[in-house]
Amino acid sequence: MSKGTINVSVDNIFPLIKKFLYSDHEIFLRELISNATDATVKLKHLSSIGEYKGEYGSPKIEVKIDKENKKLHIIDQGIGMTKEEIEKYINEIAFSGAEEFLEKYKDESGDDKGIIGHFGLGFYSAFMVAEKVEIISKSFKDEPAVHWECDGSPEYTTSKSDRIERGTEIILHIADDSTEFLEEARINELLSKYNKFMPIPIKFGTKEVNVALPEDAKKDAKPEKKTIDNIINNPNPAWTKQPSDLKPEDYKSFYRELYPMQFEDPLFHIHLNVDYPFNLTGILYFPKMSNDAINMQKDKIQLYQNQVFVTDNVEGIVPEFLTMLRGVIDSPDIPLNVSRSYLQADGAVKKISSYITRKVADKMKSLFNSDREDFEKKWNDIKIVIEYGMLSEDKFYEKAQAFALYPTVDDKYFTLEEYKEKIKAAQTDKDDKLVILYASNKDEQHAYIDAAKDKGYEVLFLDSPIVSHLIQKLESTEENVSFVRVDGDHIDNLIKKDEEQISKLNDEEKENLKTLLTELIPQDKFSVQLEAMDSKANPFIITQPEFMRRMKEMQQSGGGGMFGMGNMPDMYNLVVNTNNELIGEILSTKTAKKKERLVNQALDLARLSQNLLKGEELTTFIKRSFEMIK
Ligand code: ADP
Repeated sequence: MSKGTINVSVDNIFPLIKKFLYSDHEIFLRELISNATDATVKLKHLSSIGEYKGEYGSPKIEVKIDKENKKLHIIDQGIGMTKEEIEKYINEIAFSGAEEFLEKYKDESGDDKGIIGHFGLGFYSAFMVAEKVEIISKSFKDEPAVHWECDGSPEYTTSKSDRIERGTEIILHIADDSTEFLEEARINELLSKYNKFMPIPIKFGTKEVNVALPEDAKKDAKPEKKTIDNIINNPNPAWTKQPSDLKPEDYKSFYRELYPMQFEDPLFHIHLNVDYPFNLTGILYFPKMSNDAINMQKDKIQLYQNQVFVTDNVEGIVPEFLTMLRGVIDSPDIPLNVSRSYLQADGAVKKISSYITRKVADKMKSLFNSDREDFEKKWNDIKIVIEYGMLSEDKFYEKAQAFALYPTVDDKYFTLEEYKEKIKAAQTDKDDKLVILYASNKDEQHAYIDAAKDKGYEVLFLDSPIVSHLIQKLESTEENVSFVRVDGDHIDNLIKKDEEQISKLNDEEKENLKTLLTELIPQDKFSVQLEAMDSKANPFIITQPEFMRRMKEMQQSGGGGMFGMGNMPDMYNLVVNTNNELIGEILSTKTAKKKERLVNQALDLARLSQNLLKGEELTTFIKRSFEMIK
């Protein structure tokens, strides 16, 4: 037996390791299994190039709990280590690595710790949960096995071991404050969180399965049971395969494997596969956007590094608008032991992010071109991602011109170019501006949509929560195009043509009408606007000016707009069609009381069609209406 002291420059690294990243202690298991995996993959490589002449076999990694003796074992059949290698890799290199890591990051605080905490501590992370660690290792080289022990002080001992099987066994003597890691359920949870897709089979316990009965078995024969290894991972997940080797069904079943609680199929998948100038593989899925906020939050894109789970917080790596997607990305090139703010500034990460953006745009375009009908069907479920992307990434905005869709209230879908072409003749106003009418709610704005259709105009149906931002952007990039919601003004004012409407009222009648309306219409709620319109158009119409409404919506849905607008009351105009017969009738009515009743009734009807009549006012309206039909 020999003793040694690890060369420590900080007083004692172990208490530090323990304290560090209190909430992330669980990563020790991932680190140790990663080492076991590396050791196995290395052996495979040596075997394939003829450096290792022995039997490679089908090695696995085993995780074993010995609850009684408070021990956790991680056993591999990889290359193993000789005494010299333990001295070098564990006592010197790994130790100084861990020490350097701690030195560098122990002062990091707050959110930025996120990524750092996920990687880098290596073998010594074992001391976050163990009071003593043993390594028993037999190298693939013809040398005796070795037994290393360290109890958390800088002293360690090495002695000979009589192990004969190739590989390494790590034994953790679990500390009293970490006994959760002796629970089968807890270890199971960790293995399926971090190691679900690692490339070497991981055994944890055994399970019983039925042995298939022979063809000629008697009818009432009972199936025999046998005990087999319980393998917890899928060493060959879909994203590591070639797209050409996968069928649509394989992508769907991998989605299920990733998110067992998702019962709905994804809409599309995008297989990512680059090896230059960085390495990245993965599969992204467009889920059906549900209103189920909880699942949306829980099932996120997962980041892996060589099939080892790192995090499901991909902020900074995946462009923000795509964080609504699901799936996996795997890249050894994402530097994980740096802070998030550093990550966002990192050149390689920026390239990855713009690659992903481009890939998504290309995929959308090819789906659109290859099966437009299907794409249109799915549009409602994907539009929020696309529109958000158009707003946040200029490159994506440009590419999206080819596939972003604008549906009409009659469910026909156009690209912006197609739509402009279609409405050009009818909807160009006298100043040569193309006016695009839209509705955000087909029921609430029904009367206005109807009025526009009567004129032979088309109306788009744009109902995303961020649509006001998108429109704002479209107006600033498209020349001579303006968007206006159908209830922004009465239709003749929305698309102004040259024709003059002749008023049926003379000046005196107009004055009388004004005085009457000023008395009866609440001035704080509506500003009254007299218009000589088509006599068939409604007498009273309530409109909501586009600009103020849009600014207010933009402010409410975040960013843009003016500060404080979100709290402003809504502004409405009351457009009075002086050519409608009812106006003449109101003016010629003799009694003041009857005049008042007609005006109030007309106003309430206008409010009703703008969905503004509620509560007491609605009750009054209903009573008055019954009176009037009695
Ligand atoms: P890293 O894995 O990042 O190199 P670690 O501290 O985890 O750092 O491990 C240090 C070194 O110890 C490894 O590079 C490897 O050479 C050796 N090692 C650790 N675990 C094993 C193992 N199970 N089998 C063989 N070698 C191992």
